[in-house]
Amino acid sequence: MSLAEHSGNVKVHVLRLSHRIGRDKRVTMHLLLTARAFGAEKVIYTGQRDEGMEKRIRRVVKFWGGPFEVEYRRSWKQVITEWRRRNGEIIHLTMYGLPVQDVISKIKSSGKDKLIVVGSEKVPRELYEVSDWNVSVTSQPHSEISALCIFLHEFFGGKELSKKFSDAKIELIPQPRGKKVIYRGR
Ligand code: SAM
Repeated sequence: MSLAEHSGNVKVHVLRLSHRIGRDKRVTMHLLLTARAFGAEKVIYTGQRDEGMEKRIRRVVKFWGGPFEVEYRRSWKQVITEWRRRNGEIIHLTMYGLPVQDVISKIKSSGKDKLIVVGSEKVPRELYEVSDWNVSVTSQPHSEISALCIFLHEFFGGKELSKKFSDAKIELIPQPRGKKVIYRGR
């Protein structure tokens, strides 16, 4: 059973607010890698357009497989309005929110597509109001990367750990020691 089938063919996208090329270069790239590796199909980001970063993640998808997309948008409000119009759910990850372990089954049961929103700098108050869920991954300050990772793990119930990527040109065969890499075409 594919990850999508496991989650009732629910789309899981991520919205990363306020990317700052100088400050968030590595963090947002690691967020893209985490979103892709742990089951999200797309990351939309706002803030500063970073075409170099988009190129780098598309290169990862080319060699390690997809499907996975990245998209720049100017307005987070516009993204949320469009998501709502498609009857999707907005899940804002924040240390101030309800514990993920207490709400994840209710979130899963709605069967709606999920837009998981993470911040970088101070998050606008309005986002807390418009989100269907404000969810914490502990009530401690840490990072958008760890928060997203744990949320996806809770959402997919660990099935994301064995997700298969299509059209991969590189595949690693797990080894107790050493490395085994299969290359498929260019
Ligand atoms: N300084 C920003 C503020 O006060 O809004 C937040 C910085 S924090 C490193 C960046 C993002 O990580 C937050 O917007 C949130 O999405 C996520 N995050 C950090 N700790 C979290 C937690 N305990 N639970 C859920 N999300 C968390």
